[in-house]
Amino acid sequence: MSKSLQAIRGMNDILPEQTPLWRYFEGTVAGLLDNYGYRQIRMPIVEFTELFKRSIGEVTDIVEKEMYTFEDRNGDSLTLRPEGTAACVRAVLEHGITGGGQVQKLWYIGPMFRHERPQKGRYRQFHQIGVEVFNLDGPDIDAELIVLTWRLWGQLGIRDAVKLELNSLGTSEARGRYRDALVEFLSARLDLLDEDSQRRLKTNPLRILDTKVPETQALLADAPKLEEYLDEESRLHFEGLKARLDAAGIPYVLNPKLVRGLDYYSKTVFEWVTDKLGAQGTVCAGGRYDGLVEQMGGKPTTGVGFAMGIERLILLLETLEQIPESIARQVDVYLCAFGEQAELAGLALSERVRDSVPGLRLQVNAGGGSFKSQFKKADKSGALYALILGDDELEQQVVGFKPLRGQGEQQNIAFDALAEHLAACVVQG
Ligand code: ATP
Ligand code: MG
Repeated sequence: MSKSLQAIRGMNDILPEQTPLWRYFEGTVAGLLDNYGYRQIRMPIVEFTELFKRSIGEVTDIVEKEMYTFEDRNGDSLTLRPEGTAACVRAVLEHGITGGGQVQKLWYIGPMFRHERPQKGRYRQFHQIGVEVFNLDGPDIDAELIVLTWRLWGQLGIRDAVKLELNSLGTSEARGRYRDALVEFLSARLDLLDEDSQRRLKTNPLRILDTKVPETQALLADAPKLEEYLDEESRLHFEGLKARLDAAGIPYVLNPKLVRGLDYYSKTVFEWVTDKLGAQGTVCAGGRYDGLVEQMGGKPTTGVGFAMGIERLILLLETLEQIPESIARQVDVYLCAFGEQAELAGLALSERVRDSVPGLRLQVNAGGGSFKSQFKKADKSGALYALILGDDELEQQVVGFKPLRGQGEQQNIAFDALAEHLAACVVQG
């Protein structure tokens, strides 16, 4: 196929074989968030480039090298959103729904775009479900966000495969004092630093903490620790969070090197990681960002949130074979009709059945075909039962009801009794 007719590298089609699993996942998360009192918000996919520069930070990987930025026909610089928090903050400010301390517990779902090197679990268009909470500043809400994700992992059957990593970054003042100490320590050892870290020392020194370079890691062992610079308020907040996680029985590990890629975090940061997916092991990540709203021009408004990567969680469900049986089958019943009169009667009958059995997944044969070919299609559809309607059945006002997966003999069911019969066999059965 010519190159121009292929999808862009790192941007994937989600084919019909895969969408049931996606819908199951999305439905599970949406149901859970409903139950915890979170409400969905939908933002545009494109925003002014300035929004991301102001919120994510100029010297982050995302803004420096991962954004899809272009000029539109008016000459405005626009960007495909690389994450959801910035647009969510923009939206709540624009509509004034966090004003006067109004609490908002929001969630969103959709595609995000980052120009990264595509590999397993890392794509250029990927999908996130994100949650953001505004105007609640205590550790109780940080804990709730973690508790609800823990419940989600339980519902999905992947709890044993994920681990919670936790850190506190302190207030921006505390972090500033720590940054100075770290820069002083590393500047004295500049020639021992890898090239990337030398550059970061000037732009975003805290990011050096999560370097992958072993020599730099070794150097960091003796560096000042963020924990020692935590302000009292952040320390108490962190203690409060840990106490709640202990009370809820949620295990965690403290990771002092967890600083997160985005500039806007303060106090709590966390990641859910798995060792089942290779290098792309973070499936959900978030934290508190009390200064962000003000930084973006709003009144002081605290915030905390997280985003989970849907592709990585789908991969994890597949890897652990945690795919519920109910989503494997797309069709309950397949109706075969032979001849025009039977087809007409079959159409009317199926619509009557749909009226009375709303959950029924009934597929009506289309395109005609011999007995053999329709039967083959019925079998291939994965249906549990075939309904057979020919001239003989029509005359008797019955339909042949044939179990396809070895649950008993074929029998005739009267038209009038069909809905009730199917409801009993399929929907409740
Ligand atoms: P990573 O360190 O893996 O690059 P990140 O810190 O850049 O992740 P966040 O911005 O915190 O990621 O996004 C939250 C989640 O979204 C990640 O934990 C991951 O599950 C998912 N995610 C991020 N980038 C990608 C991507 N390029 N492809 C697929 N999923 C992604
Ligand atoms: Mg990244």
